[in-house]
Amino acid sequence: MNPLEKLKHELKTVLNLRGASALLQWDQETYMPDGSGAIRSEQIALLDTLSHEHLVGPAVKAPLAELVNLDNGEVTAGLSEDENRLVNEIWRDYHRAAALPKEFVEEYSQITSMAQQVWAQARKENDFAKFAPHLEKIIELKFREIDYLGVKTTPYDTLLDFFEPGMTSADVTRLFDAVKERLVPLVRRIADSGVNTGVELLRKDYDVDRQWEFGVQVLNDMGYDLNLGRQDKSAHPFTTSFHPTDVRITTRLNPNNLLSALSSTIHECGHALYEQGMDKDWFGTPFCDAISYGIHESQSRLWENLVGLSRPFWEHYYPKLQKFFPENLGNVELDAFYRAINTVEPSLIRVDADEATYNLHIMLRFEVEKQVINDKLPVKELPELWNNKMEEYLGIRPDSDANGVMQDVHWSFGGFGYFPTYALGNLYNVPMMNQAREELKGLDDQIARGKFADLREWLRTKVHLVGRRRTAAELIEDITGEKLTAEPFMDYLENKYQAIYQL
Ligand code: ZN
Repeated sequence: MNPLEKLKHELKTVLNLRGASALLQWDQETYMPDGSGAIRSEQIALLDTLSHEHLVGPAVKAPLAELVNLDNGEVTAGLSEDENRLVNEIWRDYHRAAALPKEFVEEYSQITSMAQQVWAQARKENDFAKFAPHLEKIIELKFREIDYLGVKTTPYDTLLDFFEPGMTSADVTRLFDAVKERLVPLVRRIADSGVNTGVELLRKDYDVDRQWEFGVQVLNDMGYDLNLGRQDKSAHPFTTSFHPTDVRITTRLNPNNLLSALSSTIHECGHALYEQGMDKDWFGTPFCDAISYGIHESQSRLWENLVGLSRPFWEHYYPKLQKFFPENLGNVELDAFYRAINTVEPSLIRVDADEATYNLHIMLRFEVEKQVINDKLPVKELPELWNNKMEEYLGIRPDSDANGVMQDVHWSFGGFGYFPTYALGNLYNVPMMNQAREELKGLDDQIARGKFADLREWLRTKVHLVGRRRTAAELIEDITGEKLTAEPFMDYLENKYQAIYQL
């Protein structure tokens, strides 16, 4: 076996170990008995340690050393351009993992596993003081991680680079500032418009079994292969993949929020189409892996917002939805329903936010995280900073820490640097969709007939099959011919909401 073949073989083992761990985590969030958490944490930690050991051990190191200089990643073997890229990306994963001592990986897994349980309890009890010591420990771990990995620009960038390779906080700041400049006045004009979009329509009683049934119909239409995946219920919706032939999603059902299950089903399906659409011949390698968290979010949000909240989509589905819920929707016109699902309103909770104000929640977190990681802001000052930023960005002040600084799970698993990718997904997907509209004639007519095959296959070719052959910045430029800016996204938001709110 030549070194590249050997590498592919060994990396498959790493990914299969990770898949086994992910399957245990999937079970934990869906079917595991409540009392089984402690042993499950041990099982997951064991598999995570094994996959880490295999990645940094001799089985991967030896063939990799025949192809690159292990210290700086320079390719030494004579390889094709494609192979060069592959080996570079493998080295990046290897180098990052090898920089972290085994003891650190173990400690990190144990502390974050415990912290997630404490966070859930502390949030329920609205007791930030209970969570604070755990958060302090996690931040200490992040500082150590940054030391192991090394700092190129700022400490925060070292963490951001894991989620959005190649992007720095200076890039993010430039994009977010451009969004903020137009979004803040837009949200204010919407609030001042006095238009009532009739959102209470969505808060009536909606039978959850019928919500589920409707969602499955949409999943099938979108082309999610239920022979290679499944949907279950969980408290927090997520997508998990063990291989392109086993990609699972979850949703949550709320009888008094019609949009909650439907939008999460479509969102997770967008993630799942990305995972199912990858090239399984390269499984285990970076060519069968997502480019970045932001690109992953671009796929989920493209379907959730640009398709699932669009008027063409509901021209097809609204008559069907009316048949599911005749008592609530039978006498409501499509236009009224369309306005209701596109209500823009500042709110406290990120996951319930509309597609416009959502981005302000992310900017706030980006600011706060930079202060924690770069300026070493003490944990006890976090609630106050959070509440002040909420007032500054959204004009409302949280009534509790549970609805403020403690609302997200991310910090409890050490996910500093993760949040910006949610808003980046929004910025990536609008120029993508604009380009799809140019290349696929009559795309909106297709959507209005519930036909998604052309769009799905276009995304598969342009994004899913690419794997990590390209960075996020390169991908956007390949697709659109232009560098990423905030303009397409803000043009989209302004056009859409000026019409809905008659601004
Ligand atoms: Zn997502």
